[in-house]
Amino acid sequence: MTEHTPRNPVIAIDGPSGAGKGSVSRAIARALGCRYVDTGAMYRAVAWMATHEGLALDDEPALTALAERVELMLDDRTVLVEGHDVTRAIRTAEIDAAAARVARMPSVREVLVRRQRAYGAAGGLVMEGRDIGTTVFPAADVKIYLDASPEVRAARRASDPSHGLGSAPAALSDVASALDARDHSDRTRKSSPLTMAADAVRVDTTGIPLEGVVEQVLDIVRERLAARS
Ligand code: C5P
Repeated sequence: MTEHTPRNPVIAIDGPSGAGKGSVSRAIARALGCRYVDTGAMYRAVAWMATHEGLALDDEPALTALAERVELMLDDRTVLVEGHDVTRAIRTAEIDAAAARVARMPSVREVLVRRQRAYGAAGGLVMEGRDIGTTVFPAADVKIYLDASPEVRAARRASDPSHGLGSAPAALSDVASALDARDHSDRTRKSSPLTMAADAVRVDTTGIPLEGVVEQVLDIVRERLAARS
């Protein structure tokens, strides 16, 4: 694997849904002048394209071939699949569930992990996901594991304007049980389950406003990068 210098760091941000990974990772990337890569959006994009093409969500060979060939463009605002802007379309309850199913398939993961490593080969990025510090970049310069209580994560997800657009606002209890099912799927899958890397720093975001979390994470990142340079 490519070596990264602290000048071009790889920063891994993992954790369960609703822990605040997206907002925190974007802010950290902006503050450090790094690229931001949302790996969850890649699993979502494959799930969206599969639905769009009418593929069965249990057809692992077809989904693996799709993960290999699908054209993806990701930046910190937009997700394009084959040139279509799917930024909003991939954040529905249907795609939440479909992405978690697709993400259980080892050969789909293998393909997407390879693509994620290619994005990060030159370093200089903040990558968010579930297995970045454990599998995608086990030698990342800094690993953060963001977490929060299940209640707080469900409340954040229910009020997240990028989720559930175009549908009626979801009841908190429905969001909480869908989140719980997805977390269970992510934590119990055989291939790269969601787990904290031994050398990650855990940050509990329960009750802390976004700016406070960003400050705390930036402090950890700067400290770790200084120690490595
Ligand atoms: O982070 P987000 O909720 O957008 O991720 C969507 C789904 O993709 C997650 O439920 C998880 O199953 C999967 N995922 C994954 N590994 C990653 C990122 C996301 O399995 N690195």
